[in-house]
Amino acid sequence: MSGGRVGTGFDAHRLVPGRKLMLGGVEVAHPRGLEGHSDGDCAIHALCDALLGAAGEGDMGRHFPSADPRWKDASGASFLERAARLVDARGFSVENVDVTVIAEEPVLAPYIDKMRAVLGRCLALETERVSVKAKSTDGMGATGRGEGIAAIATVLLTKRE
Ligand code: MG
Repeated sequence: MSGGRVGTGFDAHRLVPGRKLMLGGVEVAHPRGLEGHSDGDCAIHALCDALLGAAGEGDMGRHFPSADPRWKDASGASFLERAARLVDARGFSVENVDVTVIAEEPVLAPYIDKMRAVLGRCLALETERVSVKAKSTDGMGATGRGEGIAAIATVLLTKRE
């Protein structure tokens, strides 16, 4: 493979009562959800930034500004589908994506395969090329105290001939 383009993304949102917890495009059972202008899905937002970064297309703030009412309550899946279309329109194919969610709780293991399936569907990518992992910080820091959830993502794109 030649001409690979790597991208990384990061995002974090605050956990607040009265919101659904959406992560990786999947609703996760939890008493609190992620605050945000959109649905707050930091895993997908990190992934979108990684895709846009690899394609040299800036970040989510440029393409989906939170000041724009169009993106109010927008689902992570809708952002990811748009980012994937943009990457495709620039002549890139996604080789693989790898997302790490950083959360003290809830335990995300039961949701990982569903997240991989949803992300793969948005990206038109086979599940084997979609990785989602969950880590805690052993109680340290803001995520460790449960103030919020963070995520990092890495993607590899290749330019089509
Ligand atoms: Mg975000």
